[in-house]
Amino acid sequence: MYNEKVMKEFISPSNVGEVKNANAVGEVGNASCGDIMKISMRIENGIIEEVKFQTYGCAAAVATSSIATKMIKGKTIDEALAITNQEVVEELGGLPAQKIHCSVLAEGAIKAAIKNYLENYKMGNNA
Ligand SMILES: [Zn+2]
Repeated sequence: MYNEKVMKEFISPSNVGEVKNANAVGEVGNASCGDIMKISMRIENGIIEEVKFQTYGCAAAVATSSIATKMIKGKTIDEALAITNQEVVEELGGLPAQKIHCSVLAEGAIKAAIKNYLENYKMGNNA
């Protein structure tokens, strides 16, 4: 059902865990498979210096979370916001059609975390 790259990311995902002193946190879920993805980042001078995720869900959700964190690490906020779930799926070499909704999770979590960061920043408690 999944290609080799998806299986590899699922079995040994990168950037699993929680960033210490994170200043951007996002969490999203989808009802159809019950996937939940939590992402934490340390953003400095507009650059995503560190990013980690915790995903509870199907192989597609874990694989897309892993590859998405690799895609945004070291990028600017704007570059990270511009990444679409389609690009994440392409990076993985494709997903079965019924699993595409799982890839939306990574894009959603990244956007939620950056929104969280920007809100904190505006309130002046971007410690
Ligand atoms: Zn799923």
